[in-house]
Amino acid sequence: MGIRDEDIARVRASTDIVGLIGEYVQLKQVGQRYRGLCPFHAEKTGSFYVNAVDGLYHCFGCQASGDAITFVREQEHLGFVEAVERLASKVGMTLTYDNEGENRTRAERRRLQDLVQKAEDFYHDRLLSAPDAAAARKYLRDRGFDSDEVRSWRIGWAPDDWDQLARELRLSKKDLAGTGLGFVNKRGRAQDFFRGRVLFPIHDSDGHPLGFGGRIMPGVEGPKYMNTSQTPLYDKSRVLFALDRAKAGIVEADEVVVCEGYTDVTAMFRVGVPRAVATCGTALTDEHVQMLRKFARRIVLAFDADTAGQAAADRFYQWEAKFDLDVVVAALPPGVDPGDMADDDPEGLVQAVADARPFLEFRLNRILDAADMSTAEHRARAAEDALSVVVEHPNDLVRDQYLMQVADRCRVDVARLRDRLRSGNVKRRPQPDEPRRRPRSADDGDPGPREPATDGDPGPRPPGAGQRTATSDGDPRSSPAVEVLRLAVNRPEAVIDWLDAALFDEGLHLDAYRALIESATIHEAIDSAPPDVAALLSKLAVEEPVDDAMDPVLLLIRSVGLRHLSIERSKAAPDLEALTTLARLVDQVGARTDRREVAARDLLTFVSSQGDE
Ligand code: ZN
Repeated sequence: MGIRDEDIARVRASTDIVGLIGEYVQLKQVGQRYRGLCPFHAEKTGSFYVNAVDGLYHCFGCQASGDAITFVREQEHLGFVEAVERLASKVGMTLTYDNEGENRTRAERRRLQDLVQKAEDFYHDRLLSAPDAAAARKYLRDRGFDSDEVRSWRIGWAPDDWDQLARELRLSKKDLAGTGLGFVNKRGRAQDFFRGRVLFPIHDSDGHPLGFGGRIMPGVEGPKYMNTSQTPLYDKSRVLFALDRAKAGIVEADEVVVCEGYTDVTAMFRVGVPRAVATCGTALTDEHVQMLRKFARRIVLAFDADTAGQAAADRFYQWEAKFDLDVVVAALPPGVDPGDMADDDPEGLVQAVADARPFLEFRLNRILDAADMSTAEHRARAAEDALSVVVEHPNDLVRDQYLMQVADRCRVDVARLRDRLRSGNVKRRPQPDEPRRRPRSADDGDPGPREPATDGDPGPRPPGAGQRTATSDGDPRSSPAVEVLRLAVNRPEAVIDWLDAALFDEGLHLDAYRALIESATIHEAIDSAPPDVAALLSKLAVEEPVDDAMDPVLLLIRSVGLRHLSIERSKAAPDLEALTTLARLVDQVGARTDRREVAARDLLTFVSSQGDE
């Protein structure tokens, strides 16, 4: 029914798992492994490890683990077959299916994609060379495009004619519908979908062609933008223009800039912000945000947010809580879009992104900056207006921070503002068909601004506070043996020369040491170890080891020496030479002199050889 087993094995073997996962999160090499923030759970320190050699990943925080196929399945919410297909197309492999019908469906999809690719080539060639594209070329030049940019974005021109594309590509009526490139008109003839428009090719996040966004020429009647209609290839609630190009920049900056127009995106790239995308003919949807969240934790809205009302505010605040991300607004001058600004003030545009502010702060500033503060009455009025946007934020701690700013700027007592908010005596900003406030999620715990807040209640944790990864024991000063094991897991190179079975007592610590020493990777160690040892290793791996590895190493060796000393002393016939040696070395390791490490080495050799007898 599915893909042939040998194909699955080939896909697995030819996928670079570090490259694959690196498209979503930044990975840093740590010893034999790569480490980063887990894409599957919210965290501030990386618990997520990738074993490049074996093509495996494991998160010590949420226990997510698997191979490249599992990763794509989990990350993209795909079935097994779709995940293998996604990977196969990345490495340019053609899959064979056990089932002939399956082979045909997949082949058909590829064929449609090839047609869209051919259309992209056709339109692009037309823009570059056709006489009837002169006005389009001029339009692009006026928008600041040079010819390299036009080529790099593969911008096209759809001639203002009935069926040039359909004829050129010899598209059947079925193909026209399947690709969205055209349709059958009332007279039963094939007709091109895009006519007289500048076309921006839209790709999936892997760069496969899906469709186009078409902009009308200035001064021509008709809708300004037209996009490919819904087809088996193209789903507008899931596509984002330029995501394939911006992906790397987004991951690198942990931030994505969302624009409204295609030329806003290209302008962002032009001024050196290569992490911009645009929705294609829709507002930003939950699905878009969910998709973007896989690549970054901060969304910068780079469009005119002045008109965004409370409905938008509610959505932004919900995204922040639901997806654990920050939604901020670029500080663009009112009514100016990035495309305009790139020409006149490129540095200003870069700065506007850098100066992006939380949405509530943005709204508040707009109100207060515009307010007349000349009289007491006006200031009270401004405070009331400001309160009406503050009240929208679901988090009481956040609200309170802004109340203090309002109090400051309007010169009113902050206690009065708090009373107002608490009593619910705040006018809401009028909104056309305002959506009902949703009940807060259970883990939020905020009763919401409409209900009286309890005094002294510390409230929910601020959004983005995230879940902390657990520490292996509540005590910040864990035993030297645990410290050394933690170093062995996280920074093996720092302690590898000192690791010795003699350092660890029989039981959990010794077992953990053995699991680590006998395995090439932490995954292997965890897989091969009994559950209690695996749990200890997992916990150690998500903890930061101490900076100075020698501190715990020396402490541990000294304590082992002391233990041997007391065992030797308690013997009926102590070995006097051993006693003397142990006592001397323990002293030297304990003394703060340059000889410590040499003595520690001798002591370790001594106790290690004793253990062998
Ligand atoms: Zn995780």
